[in-house]
Parts: sequence; C-alpha cells; structure tokens
Amino acid sequence: MQSYNPEQALFETQREFGEHGGVTPSIARSSTFTVMDPASMPEIFSGAKSPLKNDCYLYSRHFNPTNVVLARYLAALEDTEAAIATASGMSAISCTLLQLCRAGDHIVAGRTIYGGTHALLNQVLPEMGVETTFVDATDVEAFDRAVTSNTKVLYVETVGNPTLKIADIPKLAQIARQHNAKLVVDNTFTPALVTPVILGADVVVHSLTKYVSGASDMIAGAICSSREFIDELKDLHTGRAMLLGPTMDPRAAFDLIQRLPHLPIRMREHGRRAMVIATHLEQLGVSVTYPGLASHPQHGLFTEMINQGYGYGGMMTVDCVTQRQAEHFMNILQNEEQFGYIAVSLGYHDTLMSCSGTSTSSEIPTETQSAMGLSPGLVRLSVGYTGALQERIQQMVRAVESAGLVASR
Ligand SMILES: *Cc1c(COP(=O)(O)O)cnc(C)c1O
Repeated sequence: MQSYNPEQALFETQREFGEHGGVTPSIARSSTFTVMDPASMPEIFSGAKSPLKNDCYLYSRHFNPTNVVLARYLAALEDTEAAIATASGMSAISCTLLQLCRAGDHIVAGRTIYGGTHALLNQVLPEMGVETTFVDATDVEAFDRAVTSNTKVLYVETVGNPTLKIADIPKLAQIARQHNAKLVVDNTFTPALVTPVILGADVVVHSLTKYVSGASDMIAGAICSSREFIDELKDLHTGRAMLLGPTMDPRAAFDLIQRLPHLPIRMREHGRRAMVIATHLEQLGVSVTYPGLASHPQHGLFTEMINQGYGYGGMMTVDCVTQRQAEHFMNILQNEEQFGYIAVSLGYHDTLMSCSGTSTSSEIPTETQSAMGLSPGLVRLSVGYTGALQERIQQMVRAVESAGLVASR
C-alpha cells in the first residue's frame, strides 16, 4: 500500500480567504480584468507577468482566480506540480491527447475504457491522423508489443470501465519511459484512493462530474501534471486548453472547492459499504466483481497501488448474464426497494446502476464488448452511502433472489 495522504495534502494547500475575509473563497465571475498600468498589457501577453507570478489577471479563459484556487487543490489531490480545471472530463481527455499527439502519431490504449474515450480514440482521432491500438488493459506485455516508433501516449484508466480491470501503472510507466512516450491515466473511479503520478504516470485526467463533485449536479473535468505540461496546455498561441476553449465556469469551480476537502472521507465510506455488500453477495454465490475481494484477478496489484486507509472504492459489477435479468434486477432495486437509481454516471451519494453494454459502453461494438469480457447482463453499481447498511444488504439480497441470481432460501 502507498502512504500518500490526500487529506493531509489538501489540508496543507495554501488557504484562500474570501474577499471580505470569508472562510470560503470568492467567486470571480469577471470575464476580463483591468490592467491598472497600461505598460503591463504587453508584459502579460509575453508571459513576463502572470497570475501565478504577480497576481495579474487578463481574461478568464486563460486564468480565472477561482479556477486557480481549484487547480491548486486538484494538484494537491493528485500530488502533481500543477493542474487545470476544464468544463468536462471529455475535454480534459481530448485536450491532453491533442496536446501530446500530432498527425502521424500513435497511441496504445487499454480496451476497457469509458465509451466516450473509446469513440474519441477510435473515430475522431484517426480522422486527424492519430491512430490507436487497443490492448487488454491488464496485459503489460501487450502494451510493450503494440508500441511503435511513433507512439506518444500509453492511455489507461486506473480501474477500467466497466469491467473493473486494474491497470499496472508502475509497469506501464516503465514501458512509457523506455519508449519516450507519456503515460496518461484516467483516475475518475479512484480519486484519493490511487495517486497515479506517485506510481509513475505523467498525466492524470479526471471527470470531476463523478466522485469529486459527488452530487451529480454538474459536468466538470481536470488535467493534473507537471508545471511544464500544464503551461503547454495554457500557452496562448498553441495550448489546446486555451484554443479549444474547454474553460470551466468559476461558479462550478467554487462548488468543487467546497467538495474537495471531504472527498477522501466520502471515498472511504463508499469503499467501506461496497466491500460489505460485495462480500455478502459473493457469499450468496452471486457473480460479483469488486477489487476489494480476494477473488478479483488484480486484487494483489490493486492493494499495492492504493493509498492506505481509503478502501477499494465504490464501484462493483454484478453479472446478471442476460440483459433481461439485468433489467429485472435493477427494476426491483429502484422501484420496489428504493435502493438507488437506474442512471448512468457514478460517484453520487446514493447508488447509481446501469447495464453497461446497452448504455455507457454502447459505442463499443458488440464483438469488442465480448472480447473485453463485457457480458450483456453486466450491471455496474456505484455504491452510495445513504441509508442503514444492514437494511441495504437486506434489500440487495431480496433483489438478487428475485432476479434469480441466487437460489431463494
Ligand atoms: C464520465 C467519464 C468520463 C467523461 O467525463 P465527462 O465529465 O462526462 O465529460 C471519462 N472517463 C471516465 C472514466 C468517466 O467515467
């Protein structure tokens, strides 16, 4: 287990008082900023003056005071030198890949990734001359074999969506270094739990829409990396995060600043409950996949990768075999037991569940789905932390019995 302590890191982040001494930072909603001395305008454009050096702001797509505070917290969460907040997880991913790759370049990516990312790599980037080879996310040698002289990026999700396969970040980082490529890790499923940069990753991307928000009330993203890479993204003339315009609204940044301090506590509770429920389901003979169970194929690897004290995360899958049984299972849970919601997304305080093959992974062709081990009856659950846990277990037991996933007692 790793010893990085995100709670301590967030606590040590420079405190920000509001304009009137507020205990919360102020929301800077201005789109543009006054230059008091006209001579500073050219200095700002040349980069000699910047918000980070002189508290000197220009225009909110470039730098916004509230977004800068959020970026500081995000960098602390991921133990990186710098970070940038973006309007969505997809914009964080697309700007990162477009910054690192030019026409003719190549990416090696895990096969078990978010459907939107898969579509970006499989459909959109090839039109721009950037090709991707998809390999089994758990097969380190397959990444090594797929690398070509043009490979610029190895791309994985810490915990693959939706099959919950674990990427071996330390070994992939070694391969990336050997080939002069960057290891980009999507850490959306495991904020606070895993700190990919400590394990050797170069860039960490996030959909803040999920656990970091925790309230399912906004779309937001982030890129965390070296100061050098974040500055490249923000370059006024070539930075993808400037020129493709994925700017976060400072009001969203303010909301996220309020939620980051309790993210590690929430993650711990998501993980504690998911572990109890997964253990119970496994004892009943249900086909459950959860990285905290010894039966998970990469349980040992994941145990080495996680930060001590945050458990194994809130994501689990239950294989209901057929789509019909999956729908029955979710229907009982939502409509008879009031156990969560049938909805895509994850990281909410209540449980969210969806049948991945026909929802979030439906962009992935059926043959590819079966190749990556995605059963048509696979239900992905983002386990919430509301309600009494004992009652939640009883609800879950009734639902798996009703769906025929276990013999009724
Ligand atoms: C949701 C998600 C994304 C996309 O993020 P948005 O905020 O919806 O743009 C990317 N990766 C993973 C793993 C996700 O779950």
